[in-house]
Amino acid sequence: MRVIDREEVARRLTYEVCIPIVREAMIAFSRGQTMQHLRSIIPLAGGRMFGIMPGAMGPDATFGAKLISVFPDNFAKGKQSHQGLVILFDPEDGAPVCVVHAGEVTAIRTAAASAVATDALARADAHHLAILGYGEQAVTHARAITKVRDITAMTVWGRSPELAAGFAARMSQELGLPVSAAANAKQAVADADIICTVTNAREPILNGAWVRPGTHLNLVGSSVAGPAEVDNDLVVRARFIADSREGVLRQGGEFLRAKEAGLIGDDHIVAEIGQVLAGDVPGRRTDDEITAYKSLGHVVQDLASAWALYLPAEADGAGA
Ligand code: NDP
Repeated sequence: MRVIDREEVARRLTYEVCIPIVREAMIAFSRGQTMQHLRSIIPLAGGRMFGIMPGAMGPDATFGAKLISVFPDNFAKGKQSHQGLVILFDPEDGAPVCVVHAGEVTAIRTAAASAVATDALARADAHHLAILGYGEQAVTHARAITKVRDITAMTVWGRSPELAAGFAARMSQELGLPVSAAANAKQAVADADIICTVTNAREPILNGAWVRPGTHLNLVGSSVAGPAEVDNDLVVRARFIADSREGVLRQGGEFLRAKEAGLIGDDHIVAEIGQVLAGDVPGRRTDDEITAYKSLGHVVQDLASAWALYLPAEADGAGA
């Protein structure tokens, strides 16, 4: 059984590699070519969770599962909040052939998925990125979004001004562009063309009234029914694109709140991102439109990324 550890995932699953993989996976997903069960979540003490995500890339393709713990309190301890394994099975003989570090795959593929959505939905001239949150997904989103747009300025906000300033300094040095820490979320998004919400917030940290026309948003932090990072007004105003329609109807925190308030119906989800990528449904229609991509995260993204890491070593018989 091949084991692909965190270092190897970080080294080989670059955004240049992962972005096209996730793009193709989401198109295949929306075409019904892949199979998966709705993510099953076992709640643990103190807001911790254990997630089980089984799926197959197709009837004749690799299949497997991601087993992932989510421990939000790990952030304060300097540990990954998402830890676990992606397990790959060989479609030829059904043997389990590879386990991959799921924390690192999750960190990278989630940001790659947001980059894919941003490339499809943000204005071509979008250049100012705002990130709400300064954890692991904030880092990977800063890296990934700069691969799909010419980002010339970045603003970050988080609850701790010190941690936000530290994040800004690190990312500015790494990416070679000005990154500033904002005093509050309203200020952070004031000049933004693209906003990524990547926090554990349970109640909205971002109001629609603060978001400029023409902005694209990646709503990433809430991945279960209940918590919402943005208010109903923003959901209502946005052209709302889901990674999975079924997933968002069952587990899309922001969408479900606006629906429960009677402000929108199921048809507010205009498309899955895979349909937009395939050209079946238009994404952004005008420069003034606010677009929102609701990310819940799907095992097809994990399996496709993990299989790409497994295959070359399999082909030449040597560990990569
Ligand atoms: P981290 O633990 O690394 O970072 C969490 C961030 O959230 C920190 O910036 C933390 O800062 C902030 N935070 C916590 N509570 C609040 C709050 N009430 N208001 C504002 N900020 C808050 O997590 P990740 O970066 O790995 O993940 C971020 C979010 O994205 C999580 O909710 C996670 O479940 C979700 N996620 C979604 C995926 C998807 O596919 N859609 C995949 C992976 C993760 P501080 O505590 O200092 O405020």
